[in-house]
Amino acid sequence: MRLVILGGPGAGKGTQAQLLCRDLGIPCLDIGQILRQKIKSDTELGRQAKPYVEQGELVPDEIMIQFVRQQLLEPNVAKGWLLDGYPRTAFQAEELDFLLEDLEQRLNWAIYFNVPETVLKQRSLGRSRADDQPEIVERRIELFYQRTVPILEYYEPRGRLLDINGEQSPEQIYQTLCQHLNINS
Ligand code: AMP
Repeated sequence: MRLVILGGPGAGKGTQAQLLCRDLGIPCLDIGQILRQKIKSDTELGRQAKPYVEQGELVPDEIMIQFVRQQLLEPNVAKGWLLDGYPRTAFQAEELDFLLEDLEQRLNWAIYFNVPETVLKQRSLGRSRADDQPEIVERRIELFYQRTVPILEYYEPRGRLLDINGEQSPEQIYQTLCQHLNINS
């Protein structure tokens, strides 16, 4: 199974991603978390991404597309994967399809956790990461609506969008997902 998870900061993507990966037996690629690790270990990619991540800006598409290409060429993801935090722009979504075509793979679903903006703000401000400071959270949410929400219009007509009400409890959300994806949890 190949899945991408879409949702603003605080939409509850991480929790559901972990449950899905556990029950489907697929690796979870949390792109934001991998970027943070690269920044910590001061790799070349980390140095390129750092100023953007710290300000809550999106890392430029060219850097991200190259990076995700490398990630999807790793042998441990040959049989399936879940991408959390990628794609984040319509351009990334299109490029991901081109990459998958090259790899003779196909995306099964793009899962969107639909949560009102006020709830995203409340939830993100409750966290304590460096890029969860109020102005930075505001910026990340703004960018989510500007750059990521248009992706829904890419996946929807292609019949690949699962639009999930992210205001339900985590258990209810997971149950809904299991029904759609035919998972026996
Ligand atoms: P996250 O933990 O998913 O919120 O990601 C943390 C930060 O990493 C974001 O605020 C961006 O700066 C960067 N980032 C993660 N994924 C992407 C992406 N697909 N495109 C551009 N920047 C990204």
